[in-house]
Amino acid sequence: MYINQLKNTLRFDNVPLQTISVKEKSRNHDISILRLDMLHPQVSGNKWFKLQYYLDGFFRSGKGVLATFGGAYSNHIAATAAACQLLEIPCVGWIRGEEPAQYSPTLERAVHQGMQLRFVERTAYRNKEKIMSENPDYYWIPEGGYGHLGMLGAADIWNYVSQKETYSHVFLAVGSGTTTAGILHGATIGQHIMGVSVMKNNLSLEKEIAALASPSEMSQLQLLHGFHFGGYAQKNDELLAFMHDMWQQYRIPLDFVYTAKAFYALMQEAREGNFSEKNKVLFIHTGGLQGNQSLSREGK
Ligand SMILES: *Cc1c(COP(=O)(O)O)cnc(C)c1O
Repeated sequence: MYINQLKNTLRFDNVPLQTISVKEKSRNHDISILRLDMLHPQVSGNKWFKLQYYLDGFFRSGKGVLATFGGAYSNHIAATAAACQLLEIPCVGWIRGEEPAQYSPTLERAVHQGMQLRFVERTAYRNKEKIMSENPDYYWIPEGGYGHLGMLGAADIWNYVSQKETYSHVFLAVGSGTTTAGILHGATIGQHIMGVSVMKNNLSLEKEIAALASPSEMSQLQLLHGFHFGGYAQKNDELLAFMHDMWQQYRIPLDFVYTAKAFYALMQEAREGNFSEKNKVLFIHTGGLQGNQSLSREGK
């Protein structure tokens, strides 16, 4: 019931499938892009999908305060703060690291939206079990929405893809792997799910996705580890130029932490002619554009 209230606030009718034509070696190739970034400015993209069943769980729990974890630039913190404001849920964000002299744009906005912040020194932050057990009155959402409920919520993304069975390849950015597990859960047999890891050498990723997906779902997954651009939230001029290019050519806005790296991987595969004539490619734009606010602070 409450969730429908939130769904009404978000523009669920406004998630277009944008199709662009990309020149390959010998021919043009169509790529469809599911623009989840257009859902809502802060509750954007995959984070809303991962949150929805946790929010529902909060209302069912009878608890008074919702709490979760994240870093200073976290899209999960941004989405949680925005969703809690819309639903009038009191919420607390446990933020990794000492309290900074100047808050990141993400944290500034979260506070403005009514989220209380608790800064936790990095070593203590790692022990989330302890933090949760010391605060049993809160309804806890795992960091990044990782977990079974997050996976189920992410599977709902498929509801916005018409003729989903026609896509042979689906590309998306991978952080915790929750969204990828959801996409695997809702995929059609034979589809190739291409997860682009945004972290350097995140070798536990496969195991973490496997904890949320079945073995047969896992057999449809291919993880790409070569597009991290130096590591999580790292970037270089090539990536920034690519983002600029995609905006100029196709009017696709990308964020430097997730979607730019995943879309770069897709375009590279296309350029190298790795898709056959029969292949049909879908890119899931997972949102996260609020993270780009830190670019303007750097003066870029
Ligand atoms: C969090 C995030 C991801 C990664 O999602 P996971 O479910 O953690 O793998 C991808 N894209 C964007 C824009 C995100 O904010």
